[in-house]
Amino acid sequence: MCYKHQFYGIDSHRCVKMTPTLRCNQRCLFCWRSFEHEPKEEVECLPETILSGIHKYQKKALAGYNAVLDNTVTDNRWKEALDPKHVAISLSGEPTFYSKLPELIDLFNSKGYTTFLVSNGTNPEMLAKCHPFQMYVSLDAPDRETYMKVCRPKGDYWARVQESLQQLGSRRSAIRITLVKGLNDFNPEQYAAILQESGATFVEIKGYMYLGYSRNRLARENMPEHAEVRAFADKVAAACDYRIKDENILSRVIVLEHMI
Ligand code: SF4
Repeated sequence: MCYKHQFYGIDSHRCVKMTPTLRCNQRCLFCWRSFEHEPKEEVECLPETILSGIHKYQKKALAGYNAVLDNTVTDNRWKEALDPKHVAISLSGEPTFYSKLPELIDLFNSKGYTTFLVSNGTNPEMLAKCHPFQMYVSLDAPDRETYMKVCRPKGDYWARVQESLQQLGSRRSAIRITLVKGLNDFNPEQYAAILQESGATFVEIKGYMYLGYSRNRLARENMPEHAEVRAFADKVAAACDYRIKDENILSRVIVLEHMI
């Protein structure tokens, strides 16, 4: 189980991690994907095609686990995993570039899946049309200058990210802050002011992990310790109407919740 089980009750083994596109308009230093191998052209699948592939590719992703059944991967959990109930739409691209994203989410919802949508917030018009169970928008800087340096967007989308954050107060939502030591781990009061204005239901402050292609851009030392993430989260909480709800030391993540 990952921390989303601990925080939100999501059964991790029944959660499909998927992306409807590999394209993105940012080049975040901490991203685990490879910008170098981003496909130049993509053919969009219909939502029905994506839905019909869920079981097949979930099974493929789980290949091998049934050979190591133990106290964690029990026979029962293995069988449950083959029948997923949750879809996390994120992973290796910005989902709002998929033109049929609202229809895809509606389709998943209609089939009884719990949907999480994770976006970098640069496409507020598309987000307004989407109705996932929980909407995530990233906030990886306290100000425009840091945003341009850390997320390296193709244009100046700071105002558009703020517009997306403003939408979150009226829905079940979470803001994700990826804290990179030495790059964006300052000015907690300014982060707090942005959170306060958004009114998002939850805020996840998570330490950067030295993984994937991000290792070509950052150093292991850019990973904050859990105690450092917690200290930062405490300062954020002290400056706005959010309180610490829970934390997961292994994933170096703190979740805050709106008090109103
Ligand atoms: S917005 Fe997400 S997918 Fe795009 S570069 Fe940043 S972390 Fe990677």
